[in-house]
Amino acid sequence: MKNLSRRSFLASSVKAVLFGAYAAKGSAFAQSTSWTNWSGGQTCQPAGRYDICSEDELSSLLKNTLGSIRPIGSGHSFSPLIPTDGHLVVIDQLSGIRDYDTESMQVTLGAGTRLGDLGPQLDAIGQGMINLPDIDRQTVAGAIATGTHGTGVALQALSSFVTSLRLVTANGQVMDIDASDGDLFHAARVSVGALGIVTEVTMQNREAYNLKKREWAAPTEDILENFDELAASHRHFEIFPLVYSDYSLVLSIDETDEPIGKIELEPEVSDDASIAESLGLTSNPTPAQRRTISNATASRIQPTEAVDVSHKILTNLRNSRFNEMEYSVPAEVGAECLREILKTIYEQKIDVLFPLEYRYVGADDNWLSMAYGDHPHATISIHRMASEDYRPYFNIIEPIFWKYGGRPHWGKVHSLTHKELTGLYPHFKDFMEIRRSLDPQGRMLNSHLRALFNG
Ligand SMILES: Cc1cc2nc3c(=O)[nH]c(=O)nc-3n(C[C@H](O)[C@H](O)[C@H](O)COP(=O)(O)OP(=O)(O)OC[C@H]3O[C@@H](n4cnc5c(N)ncnc54)[C@H](O)[C@@H]3O)c2cc1C
Repeated sequence: MKNLSRRSFLASSVKAVLFGAYAAKGSAFAQSTSWTNWSGGQTCQPAGRYDICSEDELSSLLKNTLGSIRPIGSGHSFSPLIPTDGHLVVIDQLSGIRDYDTESMQVTLGAGTRLGDLGPQLDAIGQGMINLPDIDRQTVAGAIATGTHGTGVALQALSSFVTSLRLVTANGQVMDIDASDGDLFHAARVSVGALGIVTEVTMQNREAYNLKKREWAAPTEDILENFDELAASHRHFEIFPLVYSDYSLVLSIDETDEPIGKIELEPEVSDDASIAESLGLTSNPTPAQRRTISNATASRIQPTEAVDVSHKILTNLRNSRFNEMEYSVPAEVGAECLREILKTIYEQKIDVLFPLEYRYVGADDNWLSMAYGDHPHATISIHRMASEDYRPYFNIIEPIFWKYGGRPHWGKVHSLTHKELTGLYPHFKDFMEIRRSLDPQGRMLNSHLRALFNG
């Protein structure tokens, strides 16, 4: 533990359980014929892969070949969106800013741009993304395709910042799509790669900005009782409820003019023995013992603060591989749903360490967005280490989401079928119709998507 105060160790211990302790960016994506996603939970043996250099090349490829195609980003989805025995299309080379406007604060970029590469490029032109998810390894195309979102009751998912996009359809036709295209625009901004291959995106940004992040621990009930006010009074506000505990890690992020830097707050408390105990390093604790241990750990976590440019504050490194299920539920029933999940884990003695994640996301008009509609949604995530079988845990919790009208994150594990999805998304059938019109043969589908869209 050299050079690390016990106070920061306590906080980092809990975060290590959450997300791993070391920094090593990159996905498990290998340059071999076989394909594996980031968590290792999805694999396939495609017939081949096309590394596309230009939109023209992609268009002629689609015109001159037959067979199934799946566009891939950086493989950070947990659900079987990619696996195919057809061909993968990689658009990594279509990346970087192609054009920008300092008045409208918009940029046009190659859809294969990694979010993490975009931050510094936007800094250089005085712009910043309005919001980001909590990692930045995704491609822009991959992130918008699944409705990837960050945190913030007034901040929508990334696809809502897309003002126009270029789509190459299954027959090689190139389409420019923006708000003037009405329904097609609502469908194309969250399309799970089922309408065609997005090559270019124009995105609404804002002037570059700095953010101040505060992290602390607090009793979950105290926070939930005031969640709406807290969410409204911070630009970003979320909690990581600890399982078998009455506490959550709390995160608020706000705009600031303060100088970049980290500010140490309170002096350290605790000792090594209690840290070991707090991490559950005792043999087989009962749920009640775990609650005592976790509460003791959490109550000793001291607040921390940091100030930096927006993209560095909003994103993190997630180095421990895991699988995840995330559903959105209407914000007004979010707390109730979360409580039921925490209670179920406790009562059913589910052997899990990973904290949950609970945040709000602003309403939008993208047909397949998990926040589609006219009110904000709460999103709740559960995680399981990649080395463990996630199914028993997720199978117990998933019906709780359904009870509260939950909509699944397309990039995360879920078991819903065409029938349920039709009832959850008012425009699901409209999306299916557009999909069929653009790709009647279902060339862009794999077996997972074929089942979802009756393709
Ligand atoms: C550690 C971790 C943290 C995460 N945090 C968040 C978070 O905070 N918020 C959140 O909402 N999600 C989060 N996710 C989920 C992640 O953002 C999504 O799964 C996202 O879609 C992954 O992007 P990707 O570039 O890896 O795309 P992939 O997973 O490779 O593909 C996702 C989808 O995009 C499609 N696609 C890719 N490229 C194209 C293209 N050019 N044209 C058309 N379709 C295309 C694919 O066909 C597929 O359907 C997280 C995932 C991980 C592993």
